[in-house]
Amino acid sequence: MPAAGSISEKRRMAATSNGKTPAAFQRALLRWYDAQRRDLPWRKTRDPYRIWLSEIMLQQTRVAAVLEHYRIFLERFPSIEALASASEADVLAAWSGLGYYRRARRLRQCAQQIVEQYKGSFPQNSEALLPLPGIGRYTAAAIASIVFGEPVAVVDGNVERVLRRLIGGTLTTRQVWEHAQAFLDRSRPGDFNQAMMELGATVCVPREPRCLACPARKWCVTRGVEVRRAKPAVHQQKKAVWCALDWREGNGGGNGKVRLVQRPRKAALMAGMWELPQSSAPPRTSRTAAPWRKFRHTITVTSYTVHVLRNKQIGNLLLPDDRFAAKGKWIGLDRIQQLPITGLTRKILKASGMI
Ligand code: SF4
Repeated sequence: MPAAGSISEKRRMAATSNGKTPAAFQRALLRWYDAQRRDLPWRKTRDPYRIWLSEIMLQQTRVAAVLEHYRIFLERFPSIEALASASEADVLAAWSGLGYYRRARRLRQCAQQIVEQYKGSFPQNSEALLPLPGIGRYTAAAIASIVFGEPVAVVDGNVERVLRRLIGGTLTTRQVWEHAQAFLDRSRPGDFNQAMMELGATVCVPREPRCLACPARKWCVTRGVEVRRAKPAVHQQKKAVWCALDWREGNGGGNGKVRLVQRPRKAALMAGMWELPQSSAPPRTSRTAAPWRKFRHTITVTSYTVHVLRNKQIGNLLLPDDRFAAKGKWIGLDRIQQLPITGLTRKILKASGMI
């Protein structure tokens, strides 16, 4: 096994073969992909709307978390026209729980632009896709290669990791994209791109690459050796937050209500979404509030310990504490699923059995 930093230029050139396509590598990777790929709903279609939606949902989000949202979102917005004509609140509600809500807003804007400018048909190459809202170089290449067969490579986090390990040495981002393009199988660009992503997601994983099971092992210069290099620690902040889960019975005891607060429309995060009343300090008095449960919740690099105080109220406000009191609106539980609620609020309401 070569030591980190001792990757020979000769082996690197063997991998990319002076610009010639590394055909044996492509064959091995595609053979592996055809046999091993995960059975995912967006792999059963060439519909650009469905492929685009999956690509946006999968950004910074695990496949397992996307699957259910993808199904529900498509039930609610089965076509690009349905999405384009929906209100922002409805789109955010369907996106609720996936996080990074800017993606949902831009998804709707993009749908509107495609309907208005292109009569509902996606532009058929990466260059024409690129100016659309929320579509960057990666997404444009993914749609163009998977749906329209354009021979253009994608680089996401998984592909970048695979390439850096395969080739070794220090590569700039521009070089990573160039190598991705040099490796690409031009006869099956969509499958090849997905195979590279699949390899990064399931075999060439960040911490413990499974090199012995890797179809690219023969061509790999590092074989995971750089994993052992010291990595800069990601500084994760820890914070505590208190939430009031206030509910009251509806008429006749059924269809109860829960108190939610809408975040400011100009908030940097999750603007306009609904959540349980929160405070960064514990309530000063809590005659009717009782600690119920603690949750862990992570947003980007901050890990929150969430203390939930649960109350049942008929009459006066439950938490006689000005950090919580008199905020928000009582929302019927039957309406919650139509509202854009934050992921944390969804998590708590689910755990309480309210939704
Ligand atoms: S051999 Fe190991 S390091 Fe190289 S691509 Fe395969 S899994 Fe990644």
